[in-house]
Amino acid sequence: PERTLVLVKPDGVRRGLSGEILRRIEAKGYTLTAVELKNATPELLAQHYAEHEGKPFYAPLVEFMLSGPVLAVVAEGQGVIPGFRSLAGATDPTVAAPGTIRGDLGRDWGLKVQQNLVHGSDSPESAEREIALWFPTF
Ligand code: ATP
Repeated sequence: PERTLVLVKPDGVRRGLSGEILRRIEAKGYTLTAVELKNATPELLAQHYAEHEGKPFYAPLVEFMLSGPVLAVVAEGQGVIPGFRSLAGATDPTVAAPGTIRGDLGRDWGLKVQQNLVHGSDSPESAEREIALWFPTF
């Protein structure tokens, strides 16, 4: 079955929103097949965000992702890759639609777009690559 990697980013964990975010994934009908609180490393993030290396927001993004633990999640279900991105809403929480995780729970932290609570894989190839990075034994 289709699966995706979801990360509750450090802002979501710090604000106590992990349960609410997992609740929304399960309420939609997806199955959680792995959930683990992890501390990212610079090496892991360099691989996870390889496509963004060299962009102006790369260094602040990595620094933010190292600012506290991340909840790594594998969710499974039909259409879960686009389905979770739809649950998450637009990248910028200040414009994300109401009803989405970022739209309902995201805040404007002073134009810090990187603090947008969650990550979700954007394709089957990214999902398998990212699951292997965050859950090497899975
Ligand atoms: P994700 O891949 O995390 O689900 P996304 O696909 O909506 O988010 P990407 O364009 O892949 O966004 O960017 C990855 C992450 O980099 C974003 O989630 C956000 O945290 C950060 N980011 C993207 N664009 C910016 C920006 N202009 N300024 C600061 N941070 C940004």
